Amino acid sequence: MSETDSSVKLTRREFLKLASVSLAGLPFFRKNLKDLGNIDYSPLSQTQLDKFIEQVNSNPLPKEEDTYYASFFVPESVYTRWSKKSKYSFEIFLNSHVGEVNKMLKPAGYKFLVRWFLVVQDGVAVPASWDETWLREGLKDSDGRYYFDDPKYDPGKSSYFQNGYDYGLPHEIGHQVFHLKDHYDLDRDLRWKGIVLPLSLNGAHYSTLVYRAADRADQSNDLMSGGNGTEIRTYTKLQLARRRTQGFVHNFKRELWDYEGWPIEFPQRVQMKFYDGAKPLTVSKLEVYTIFNSPDKKDTFLSKSPYVCTPDNFIPKKALSPHGNYILNGEAVLLLVIKDKEGKSYLRWTDIRDFNIPYWQGFTDNVTMRLQAMSLTRDYDAPLSFNWGIGYYSKP
Ligand SMILES: [Zn+2]
Repeated sequence: MSETDSSVKLTRREFLKLASVSLAGLPFFRKNLKDLGNIDYSPLSQTQLDKFIEQVNSNPLPKEEDTYYASFFVPESVYTRWSKKSKYSFEIFLNSHVGEVNKMLKPAGYKFLVRWFLVVQDGVAVPASWDETWLREGLKDSDGRYYFDDPKYDPGKSSYFQNGYDYGLPHEIGHQVFHLKDHYDLDRDLRWKGIVLPLSLNGAHYSTLVYRAADRADQSNDLMSGGNGTEIRTYTKLQLARRRTQGFVHNFKRELWDYEGWPIEFPQRVQMKFYDGAKPLTVSKLEVYTIFNSPDKKDTFLSKSPYVCTPDNFIPKKALSPHGNYILNGEAVLLLVIKDKEGKSYLRWTDIRDFNIPYWQGFTDNVTMRLQAMSLTRDYDAPLSFNWGIGYYSKP
C-alpha cells in the first residue's frame, strides 16, 4: 500500500482491514472483528493512522462503566521481528497479558478490554495518553494506549518477568490507561544526605530514617508499587472503585488528576492510637513533619517547623497541603514524632494513602487509626518486617 492510496476515501470496513491484524479465536478482540473474517494486515502510514483515528472518533464505540479500554500500537519492525523470533504470536502474548490485567482488576470490579490493536509503519507518531494530548489526538473509544516502541522488546528479558508474565506491561497500562501514579515516588530517605534533623530526632537509629513506601508489607506487590506488582491491593482497589461512586470513570481530565498527584480525599479529623507491639502508648505530644522531595528526587528535606497537635485531634489538611486539584508527590509523606508520657520518643512514617483509604471506606468526617510506632533508638534493620498495617475504626 503506497502513501498515495490513503488519499482515496476508504470505507470504515476498509480502514479496519488496513488497521488491524486478524486475531481470530482470541476472545478479547473477537467482539470488534467477528464480522471481518480473516484479513491481511498492512501497517498504517501516518496519514492512514490519522484518518483511522478520525474515522473512529466520528462514531466512537460506547464505553461501559465497569470496563477500561486500551488500544495497542506496534511498529512494523517490532511486529515482524517478533513473528520471526517467537514461538507464539504477538497477539497471543498480548492476549495472555490482557487476561492477567483482568485478573488483577477483578477485586475493583472492572474489566479490561483491548479496543484496537494497530500495526503502524516505523516512525509513525502515536498520540500519548499520559497527558491531554489523548483528548485532542487520541481515540475517543479508548481510555489510553500502550505503544511497543522498544525495537528489542522481549518480555522474557524484562526484570519484571515472572510466572510467564512481564508485569512491567500491566504497570505501564496502570499509568497510561488507568492514569495511576507510581507508589515508589513516596519513598524517602533521611540518611546520608546532610539533612539537618530536628532535635526531637536526635539519636534516631538510621534504620528508622528510611521509608520504603512501595515495599511496606501492607501495600507491596501492588500494580502501581513499582513494576513488578502482580495484584491490586487495598489502595488501588479503592482508588479505582471510587471513580464509579464519584461518577468519573472515562472522564479523562478528571482521571488524570490521579496520575498528576494524589487525591485530596481524607477525613476531616483523625484520632491516632499508637502501639509499641501490644502496648498502647500514652501520647502527650505529636509533631508532624512533611518530608518533601524535590521534583527531580535529588533533594529531600523536612518542613521547617512541624505541625504540632495531640493524637486526638490530627487534622490531615493541616499537614497535607493541596496544590490545585491534588497533592504533589513530593509533599505527600509525613513523619510523625511521638512523645509518650515518660518522655520516650517514637516515630511513625505515613503517607497520603493512609488517609485516602479511610475516606474511601466511608470515614469522611472522623476516623480512629490504630497503628504501630517505631521506637526511636531501636534497630529496624529489616524495615519490611515492621507491622505497617493500620486499623480504621469509627470509635476510639
Ligand atoms: Zn511506573
